[in-house]
Amino acid sequence: MPDIIQLLPDNIANQIAAGEVIQRPSSAVKELLENAIDAGSDSIQLIINDAGKSLIQVIDNGKGMTTTDARMAFERHATSKINTIEDLFHIKTMGFRGEALASIAAVAQIELKTKTADQELGTYIEIENSVVIKQEPIATNTGTSIAMKNLFFNIPARRNFLKSNTSELRHIIDEFTRVTMAFPHVHFSFINNSQPLFILEKGSLKQRITQLLGNNYNAKLVPVQEHTDYLDINGFIGKPETAKKTRGDQYFFVNNRFIKSPYLNHAVATAFDQMIGKDCFPTYALFIQLDSAQIDINVHPTKQEIKFEDEKIVYAFVQAAVKHALAQFSIAPSLDFTLDASIQQLDAVNKPFTTEKQQQATSSSLYKTFSQKNQAHKIEPSNLQPWKEIRQQEKEIKAAIEQQATNTDEVKEWKSELAKIKEEFLKTPVSENNEIFDHDPIRLSDLNILIDAPVFQLLNTYIIVQSENGFILIHQQLAHERVLYEKFINAVHQHPIATQQNLFPTTIHLSATDAVLLNELLPDLNRLGYSIELFGNNAFVIQGTPADIANGSQTKEIEQLLERYKHFNNDLHFSKREKLIRSMAAQQSIKQGQILTEREIKALLEQLAACKTPNASPNGKPTYIKYTLSQLSKIFE
Ligand code: ADP
Ligand code: MG
Repeated sequence: MPDIIQLLPDNIANQIAAGEVIQRPSSAVKELLENAIDAGSDSIQLIINDAGKSLIQVIDNGKGMTTTDARMAFERHATSKINTIEDLFHIKTMGFRGEALASIAAVAQIELKTKTADQELGTYIEIENSVVIKQEPIATNTGTSIAMKNLFFNIPARRNFLKSNTSELRHIIDEFTRVTMAFPHVHFSFINNSQPLFILEKGSLKQRITQLLGNNYNAKLVPVQEHTDYLDINGFIGKPETAKKTRGDQYFFVNNRFIKSPYLNHAVATAFDQMIGKDCFPTYALFIQLDSAQIDINVHPTKQEIKFEDEKIVYAFVQAAVKHALAQFSIAPSLDFTLDASIQQLDAVNKPFTTEKQQQATSSSLYKTFSQKNQAHKIEPSNLQPWKEIRQQEKEIKAAIEQQATNTDEVKEWKSELAKIKEEFLKTPVSENNEIFDHDPIRLSDLNILIDAPVFQLLNTYIIVQSENGFILIHQQLAHERVLYEKFINAVHQHPIATQQNLFPTTIHLSATDAVLLNELLPDLNRLGYSIELFGNNAFVIQGTPADIANGSQTKEIEQLLERYKHFNNDLHFSKREKLIRSMAAQQSIKQGQILTEREIKALLEQLAACKTPNASPNGKPTYIKYTLSQLSKIFE
């Protein structure tokens, strides 16, 4: 048998190795930004086109490279940052493996311009498939500009694997946020498709955080600052009210390097303890500084995880520091906060952040929908109309029966008329364009007991209603989610939900990621009754909200909606619209544990009965279970 093992050609070996470091445009952004920081720059510009698929460029004013170094930089394991194995334990730079530029050169077309301060002319180099195809002197500023064009142009399989531009851009913004947050004394700008997305002036950490996460954090950050011989911690935690339903803004940095650490994250979460809801995640940006010999950064391809020499100490320390900050702030708010804000905050700390308030708002919204019949903006989904009419007739007949109780002949007549109406209603489509009659009438009759039968709420979660031959147990939240879901589907496809204009429009400031997201959702949100306009600089103006929603905090509502939406984000099955509708149905639904009046219960049942698919929630869970007399008697006899 002949020998079969051979060495891979350089460019293939490089491509394989690149897979580890450069997984998507955002990985390249991270590496290039880190190189610019390592070069001592204090002003760094990021330019992105097509979510990095066609161009990623980083321009810095750092120390630049000599001509030889510029050539060397693209070799694998070529680095100026470490020399000996000892150096690995004292890393002060972001990079040290000498892999990034080699990887980038293997998967994109590169144009490098660089000049050191003592050079008169700089160096221009073009690289493709890891091969230098052009090199010449060039007049340029001190510093470095690296442009990567057409990422994965030579690996179609990987190019096809990239997600939508929105999704890739979101990853880029995430990386940009993680890198820039740690270097508030460096000026950054981010130009996306020729539009400035971020201009981050030099400033304090707090300023940087609010520039990145949104101005609304300004009065909501609590400083954390502790010093020991072993390690230092500083940064900010969000006041309890900023806790979110998804792990959004949680940033840990160790020696200025962003890391993911579920373990330390747990330390913060437990420090917040009772102050935020169980299913909420606190916001924080915490920086741990410790002797680099106490950590191993070299355990993960993109260095996002590190190993601590003694993880338990760090855990205990982080937890104590956060607790301390929270305690301090509840008794003696720092001077950073205005009086007004600190008073509010005291309240927020004493009263744990629960979902109760949110529930109150939604409960009253439901109540309003049904109780304020004469509201000018009251919504009457057209497909409920016939159902309501028949119910009205029923009521009238019943009232008449009661009045005529003495006249038995008359009563009989009324009764038979009532029976006839019901029968008709269930059998024949009343109106042609009416969707609720297109489906199996048995389902309707399933719930066709609602108006007369007594209803009970059980455990503030279930509704029990007697049926003709047993009873029905209804899950109030799931049922309402179904109702809202169909209402919203109808709104986006046919009849937009009416908007109630705000007397005083409110402005909402979002992080850039959320702003991109909200902007995308605006057309559908408009059909769903929100009137929101882009105001520029990641700010939006809420001009109006759905007319049938109680007015709570509109900004909070939008923020929560985005959080819910992000929950679905990795779900490829759903369109954006579907995700939005599902998020909104979940958000606005009556929650478990919410006490309902009889009127609210009946309204809910009536709406459920009018649904196309009343028996399942949007997520496919049952909305009700039927118990028949015969089933019951089998159990008991
Ligand atoms: P590493 O950062 O791990 O050293 P890279 O492949 O990212 O490896 O970079 C290789 C080398 O190229 C760096 O060590 C540095 O000397 C040089 N280099 C890269 N980017 C820049 C830059 N923007 N300015 C100056 N030198 C740079
Ligand atoms: Mg590097």
